[in-house]
Amino acid sequence: MTEIINGKEISAALKDDLKAEVAALKGAGKSCCLAVIQVGCDPASSVYVGNKKKACAYIGIESRSYELPEETSEEELLNLVGQLNKDDSVHGILCQLPLPKHICEDHIIKAISPHKDVDGFHPQNVGALVIGQQGFVSCTPAGIIELLHRSNITIDGKHCVVVGRSNIVGKPMALLMLRENATVTVCHSHTKNLKEICKEADILIVAIGKPRFINHEYVKEGAVVIDVGIHRGEDNKLCGDVDYEDVAGHTSAITPVPGGVGPMTIAMLMKNCVEAMKLYS
Ligand code: NDP
Repeated sequence: MTEIINGKEISAALKDDLKAEVAALKGAGKSCCLAVIQVGCDPASSVYVGNKKKACAYIGIESRSYELPEETSEEELLNLVGQLNKDDSVHGILCQLPLPKHICEDHIIKAISPHKDVDGFHPQNVGALVIGQQGFVSCTPAGIIELLHRSNITIDGKHCVVVGRSNIVGKPMALLMLRENATVTVCHSHTKNLKEICKEADILIVAIGKPRFINHEYVKEGAVVIDVGIHRGEDNKLCGDVDYEDVAGHTSAITPVPGGVGPMTIAMLMKNCVEAMKLYS
């Protein structure tokens, strides 16, 4: 029997836990605030930002919006980040990516205080993950660990294959699985024999950005398959990097798209924000 890992339900449970925690903290006189910066008005970014603000409202986190025009200079954005770093009433700073081309994303990521870096992108937080120290972890891979834990899927001792090595998904994912005592293989566009390597995975995590790329020929019978990809198909329906219809029957557990990994990303952002408040305010 294949278990469909329900990210919608699991993220809702996580958000309810956070809502109760935030209410208790408010009772003790502590409130939590996330600063949300958007530069320009890219429609996809506006949807993501809107969803993040909605999640804040549900949990009881104040979201403070900074909607800046497309022509904002890097210096102006750095000044805003500097002010928010100093503002003790702000616990998390989120700068929605991608930024307009004339602004260097690395400069902005590095300017955000690591203690307010709820996206987990700052090199100090990435370094902390590498050496097993406390720090914020990129939300999508952190959400996948939460999905696996809450679905009672054992990671310890399993062979995990991560396909994709981006800084926000593949690399932190591999490090988190290592921290959970999996044996980890990372694949990318130069990997030879991808099919054979994927077929050895007990847990296969796919983040390549190619619609329905992984079919059953890449999957060991009974493996757990986590699909990070999200695409709108020609039929206007959402699909992942995994060909769900072809693969699901061969797995012991799989995440659907939509309703798998996606909803966890925002829930983990909220979790990081509450943590930032508890740890550093
Ligand atoms: P990137 O484009 O940054 O990285 C893709 C990775 O896949 C690269 O490491 C690339 O290798 C590798 N790759 C590409 N083609 C192949 C191939 N044929 N064989 C093996 N490896 C390959 O993507 P992201 O990590 O940012 O995102 C991946 C997917 O996840 C996207 O669909 C994105 O939309 C989705 N996503 C979903 C989120 C969510 O919340 N659900 C959050 C973030 C992303 P190389 O390094 O060699 O180029």
